[in-house]
Formats: sequence, C-alpha cells, structure tokens
Amino acid sequence: MSHSKALQNSIFTTIGEVADELQMPCYVIGGYVRDYLLQRGNAKDIDIVAVGSGIKLAKAVAAQLIDSSEVKVFKNFGTAMLKHHSLEVEFVGARKESYQRDSRKPIVENGSLEDDQKRRDFTINALAISLNKNTFGELIDPFNGITDLKDKTIRTPLEPGITYSDDPLRMLRAIRFATQLDFTIETASLQAITSHANRLKIISNERVVDEIHKILLSSQPSKGFKLLYNTGLLKLILPELIALKGIEEVEGQRHKDNFWHTLEVVDNIAKTTNNLWLRWAALLHDIGKAPTKRFDKKIGWTFHAHEFVGSKMVYKIFKRLKMPLNEKMKFVQKMVLMSSRPIILSEDHVTDSAVRRLVFDAGEHIEDLMTLCEADITTKNPKKQKRYKNNFKIVREKIIEVEERDRIRNFQPPVSGEEIMKVFNLKPCREIGLIKDAIKEAILEGEIPNNYEAAYNYMLTKGKQMGLTHA
Ligand code: ATP
Ligand code: MG
Repeated sequence: MSHSKALQNSIFTTIGEVADELQMPCYVIGGYVRDYLLQRGNAKDIDIVAVGSGIKLAKAVAAQLIDSSEVKVFKNFGTAMLKHHSLEVEFVGARKESYQRDSRKPIVENGSLEDDQKRRDFTINALAISLNKNTFGELIDPFNGITDLKDKTIRTPLEPGITYSDDPLRMLRAIRFATQLDFTIETASLQAITSHANRLKIISNERVVDEIHKILLSSQPSKGFKLLYNTGLLKLILPELIALKGIEEVEGQRHKDNFWHTLEVVDNIAKTTNNLWLRWAALLHDIGKAPTKRFDKKIGWTFHAHEFVGSKMVYKIFKRLKMPLNEKMKFVQKMVLMSSRPIILSEDHVTDSAVRRLVFDAGEHIEDLMTLCEADITTKNPKKQKRYKNNFKIVREKIIEVEERDRIRNFQPPVSGEEIMKVFNLKPCREIGLIKDAIKEAILEGEIPNNYEAAYNYMLTKGKQMGLTHA
C-alpha cells in the first residue's frame, strides 16, 4: 500500500528529488509518520533520515527552495534543521548507536536505515516512508509498528531492557506516549521500566520536566501518573505526591486517600483548562497534607495550614526540578495557598464582604482559583456533589455582582499616600500606612464604596480620630 497521501506537501517531493540527485536513499520517519497514520493532524516537525550525510542533503534541499530560511547545522550531532514556512524539517544521516552505562550519549557510526530504525524508542516511532522517486510512498516497517498502532501498543524495537537502560529518558517517553495517545505499554516493557527505574537519575531535570509537562497537558493525565507510580518512577520525581497515599484510620475515623484524590482533581481540571500551570496547581494543591496530618480526638483528622505548608513546598519542588522560579511558580504557589478559600466561603452563608476579600486576595487569578476549586470536588455522594457545585455557582454569581459594583479585582488605593501626606502635612511615617489600610478595610467590609470621594471623606474622619490636623 502506498502512503503517498502522507507526502502531499511539496517539500517531500523536493527532498526526494534532491536525494535522488545525490544518490541517497531518504525517508520521513518517526512522529510525523506516526501521527499521519493515527490521523492526529499535520505535524509541524518533520524528521528526515538519509542513508548518507543528512547535513549535505539539508543544504542541497535549501538551495532548491526559493523561500527558505537558512539551514542550521549541528555538527556535533550530525544533524541539520531547515525552516520552511511553518515547517521545521530536521535532517539526519542513518546511524548505528552503541551506549555506555553512565551516559545517554551514544557512540555513533553511520549505518543502514534498519540500524537507524532499531535505535528508535518505539516501534510506532520507527516507521519510515520512502521519499525517493522510485519508491515514493513506500512504508518501511521492520518491527511491525503498524500492528502496534492498530493495537494501541507501546513496544520497543529491541529487547526492552536494552532500549531503556541505553537511554532511560525512553521510560518517560513510553509513559508520555501511552498517556497522550491512550496506548498500552506492553508487559515486557513495563517490567523493564520498573526494573530500570533507578537509571532515571542520569537524565537531566529539564528533560524529565518536559515529559511531565506533556503528561499533564494530555486529556487524562492520571493515566500517566498511575504508570509513573506503578513503575517506581514517581518516587524519584515527585516523592511528595506519594506521601499523600494511603488511608489511615484512628478511632473509626478515616480520611480520604489524597493521592488518588489529587489524580482525580487533575483529570477534572484537564476538562476545563489547558493552562499548564493551573494543571500543576491541581497536581500540587494538597501536597502540604502529608506533613500536616494530625489526628485530634475532638475533631478527627486535620491538615492544619496545609495550604501554607504546601505553597512553601511548591518552591522547593520547582527548585529541585530546575523549573522556572518566576511568576509561573508564584502563580502555582498562590493557587495552592488559596485552594481552600472558596470552599470555606461557600460552606457558610456567602456574604458580600467575604467575596470581596476573596477577590481582593486572588486578584486577576480569581477565575483560575474558581476553576481549581470546582475541579477539587471529587465526592462520590451525589447530594454533596450537587450542593458543592451549587454553592460554587452562587460564589461565581456573587463575584460578578460584587466586581461590577466595587471593582476589587485590580484594586488600587483610591487615595494615594502622597495625598494623605499633603492633606495632613506629614513626612513619611507610620500613620500614612495605617490610614491607607483603614480605607482598604472599609471598602472590603462594605462600609464605604470603592471610589475617590468616599475614600477621601473616610480619610478625613480617620485622620481626625488619630489626632492629625488638616493642613
Ligand atoms: P512529539 O514530537 O509529538 O513529541 P515525536 O515522536 O516526533 O513526538 P521527537 O522527540 O520529536 O518525538 O523525536 C522524533 C523521533 O526521534 C521519534 O519519533 C523517535 O523515532 C526518535 N526519538 C526521539 N527521542 C528518542 C529517544 N530518546 N530514543 C530513541 N529514539 C528517539
Ligand atoms: Mg516530533
């Protein structure tokens, strides 16, 4: 069967023609072919393998294209990257690899197409389609990748123990692809991953995090985290999550298993947002529950201040995993810190002032916070489920109502420090802060509306009470 339909983009014909001139067999291989056969939409990155010099081929192709940016050559890797419109085409010469124990950098020699396919991680990623004129569209599938695609199986071309210990990143890739594509990892592979899990330590944190991001961004991330847990990889990456596992019972009182709960929350939030950092917040929202767990004879299980402890742990985790310690991390911290606020609020009668305080503290992230809290509802009790959802609906309505009236979301002090100084003829001092705070409190409590005039008058009253004189 010809797969020339995969090659409708004219770039493939051009590459094939140029390769023919250079007398090089050449193929499109890997993710592009896999995603074409799975009908996952057009991939933007294309991998080309040539039996010969990939760099030479890339340069010759670039010379042939009228409107192409330059070729970027990575000499150390023997690869070249060509950008063409929105496509990124990577060229590499077919290679044979052998590995040493302490590194995922192999010794590389030139090889045949089959040598090259063998070194690929999975049979579904080793499929190649020929681009040369005589064989254009021919599929080369020495490891039955097509069967595995149909059966939705992740399998390695070589013995799995070799594949994974050669490059332990593949353990994470296997789990990531299983999650993204909703495939099953074949048993032998799963066993090999489990027994080689410790080899993960030679992988850089950046690569690990890249794969975790992809797992988190798939439609059912719990699938990936369960696999990470079952293979023993999770305890090397996020032991804090594993500490949430288990149910304890004291005096007949049990708490929920916060590990499985967390995975449910992540799946829930995956249905409502693609924001990677909000998904991270869902993953880490209960992380402080392990170190704060106590049993109290009167109230039962408590996790006092787990949100605060959790937000501190976010920093440590991000730092350890070499993730950015920037505003993304601060956002995750803030979500974790505030993760119980809407629930506590909605358990009570929802007052305007409580909503104003929530909006004030969450600021521009109020929507995200509500999304997180809604995902946090995992009770199996339909009555409770309904009540919580309804309460959140009320909170959301109140947020809109209060926001329209009081504009708290991007709160700016209606009277500035300079103005207070001028009115009471003050040098910088403590009183200025006190007055500003009193104005903010009065607005949040609903004693005065959030406008200049009301705030100005309130300032005069407060100043008088403090014994200040009007300048
Ligand atoms: P995606 O781009 O959606 O993540 P992909 O399969 O294209 O999926 P890439 O990381 O772009 O993944 O790699 C391209 C191809 O290179 C893969 O399809 C696979 O054949 C091969 N490959 C990538 N990483 C490895 C690895 N660690 N070990 C073996 N082969 C690999
Ligand atoms: Mg790719």
